[in-house]
Order: sequence, then structure tokens, then C-alpha cells
Amino acid sequence: VSYPSIVGEMLASGFGIIGFSWICSPACTELEVVVMDWLAKFLKLPEQFLHATEGPGGGVIQGSASEAVLVAVLAAREQAVVKYRELHPELSESEIRGKLIAYSSDQSNSCIEKAGVIAAMPIKLLPAGEDLILRGDALKKAIEEDVQEGRIPVICIATLGTTGTCAYDDIESLATVCEDHNVWLHVDAAYAGGAFALDECADLRRGIDRVDSLNFNLHKFMLVNFDCSAMWLKDANKVVDSFNVDRIYLKHKYEGQSQIPDFRHWQIPLGRRFRALKVWITFRTLGAEGLRAHVRKHISLAEQFEKLVKDDKRFELVAPRALGLVCFRPKGDNEITAQLLQRL
Ligand code: PLP
Repeated sequence: VSYPSIVGEMLASGFGIIGFSWICSPACTELEVVVMDWLAKFLKLPEQFLHATEGPGGGVIQGSASEAVLVAVLAAREQAVVKYRELHPELSESEIRGKLIAYSSDQSNSCIEKAGVIAAMPIKLLPAGEDLILRGDALKKAIEEDVQEGRIPVICIATLGTTGTCAYDDIESLATVCEDHNVWLHVDAAYAGGAFALDECADLRRGIDRVDSLNFNLHKFMLVNFDCSAMWLKDANKVVDSFNVDRIYLKHKYEGQSQIPDFRHWQIPLGRRFRALKVWITFRTLGAEGLRAHVRKHISLAEQFEKLVKDDKRFELVAPRALGLVCFRPKGDNEITAQLLQRL
């Protein structure tokens, strides 16, 4: 975390804004549009995720990666129900809902499984390869089996930077399978997303132009204090259409204008905090170069630590170092690792 972010947090708390809708605080919405486009450009995301470009894409700040994943899962679910009802009018809505199925890897974060529980839609945790990466062939096999058995594939949640070892799922091959089967592809880049900003990590962004949505936690790698989770959608209308519940007291005369999104339709709660302020102040104070230097510093510290582990014959690496994460253990019995963990 950084002092500019804390200043932003204090100001936002002091202003006491509860952004139910644009009219409650135009600055709260409009600064969020600005900083989400800054951030998308900083991370070199495809233009389709920018508010400023023609088209239905854009970014929003959620509280956590868990909320972002849940929003994607719920929106994909509702889209699938609408589409399937048109294709199969003979089926009732509850029959369709009972057939829905989603996918992720057995290495994905617990929040993915939780999203399935909340959305009342089973999420199959597919076996990742020996390198702990999920690839298209595993997804293809699972989808084909499920379709054969009459299930309806809805969404695949891939991870760039798994919690356990910071493994990167193969987005290109997963995207090919998702496109073939009309399945929503979401990428959880909660930790690793910050490295998109570095030219030397450009490989990480491979396939990102083919995903429907993604999330990245600024509170993990971007010096912004908790909570601040960026989410981008290729077609925000799919979320808005799924979550749009209106009341007379929420209406205002500027509704529906393209540069004025009503972010309440993009999230679970109605009210929202002015989180964009801490992002804005952090970016303005540290600058893009300062933030890139921060990510590079984490990586170089991890490289140093990796070298220490490799040079010490009592320890071994259990996975390749990835960004700022080094997975290591003492050689020998697992009990020694458990003891070391306790002492740490
Ligand atoms: N996704 C990944 C890959 C994570 O590593 C984590 C947390 O460690 C999460 C999601 C959950 O993040 P949040 O606490 O913002 O919901």
C-alpha cells in the first residue's frame, strides 16, 4: 500500500459519498470511467475494454476479485438462460437452469468455487497439467462429455497467476474451445494482472483480446489499499441486462447516455464507494513509471530470494519462480515444512 492511496481513502471516507447512481455523485462515476481507461491503457489491454472506444466495453471497480468473478458467473448464467430459452421453447426455465454447468481449474482460487455455490451452478474443477496449467484440451473433453449428457456449458474461469504457484492458464487454447461452444471466458488475473504493464511480461497478455471479462486486484500489486479490484467487460450490456432492476427513486434525467454508465447495474450492491479517488491519486503521485518500478522491484526481490534458495542445499524450489512468488520447502519430510511454516 502507498501513502497516496491512503490519502485517497481518507478523502473518500470524508466526502461520505454513496454512489447509488450517477446523479448521487457525478464525480464518483466519471472519475471511475477515467481511471479505468487509464488503467486499461497502462496494462496494455485491448481497446475493446475501454469506455472511450465505440462499443459496449468498459471497466468498473469492484470490491474484490471474488465479487468480479461472481458478477461474471451470474451474467454468463443469465445470458445462457435467455439464449437457451429462445433455442428450446419446449423447455421450462427451471429445466434449463438445472442443466447449466461451468468450468475452472483445480488450481483456481477458492472464490471461483464459491461463486458457483452462490450462483447455484456447479463449477467443475478440471485437472490442470503437471505444470499446473489448464489447457484447452482438458476443457474441450469436459465440454464435449457434458454436452453429450445434455448439460449446457456456460462459462470457463481461467487464471493468470494461480494462488498456489502463480501458474498461467493457456488462454489462447481455452479461448478457441470457448468460441467453438459459445462459452463465456473470464480471466482471474487477481495477482498477475499488474505485470501486464511491463513489456518484458507481454507474453502474459497472450489471448486477452479473446476473453469476455477479466479482473485484477489493485490491492495486490498496484500500491492501492484494500479494497480495489478492477474488472473489464468486452460487452457490459450483458451484465447490465442481467442485473438491471429499476425503481422510480433511482431514475434521473441523464440515464442511458453512453458516457454515463450506471455502475449499480455492473455490481452486486446498490451503493458504491468512491474508490476511483485513491486510484487517481496513486497514479497521479507515483506515475506510470513509478508503478512499473514497483512491480519490477517485487520481481527482482523474488529473483534474489530464488537464488538464496537454490544456493542453500537445505531447501528446494517446488515450482518455477513466477513474478514475485517463490514456492520453496525444506528438503525431506513434509513435517519439516509444516514446522517451518508455523515458525514463520
Ligand atoms: N483470485 C486469485 C488468483 C487470488 O490469488 C485471490 C486471493 O488471493 C483471489 C482471487 C481472491 O481475491 P479477493 O480477496 O479480492 O476476493
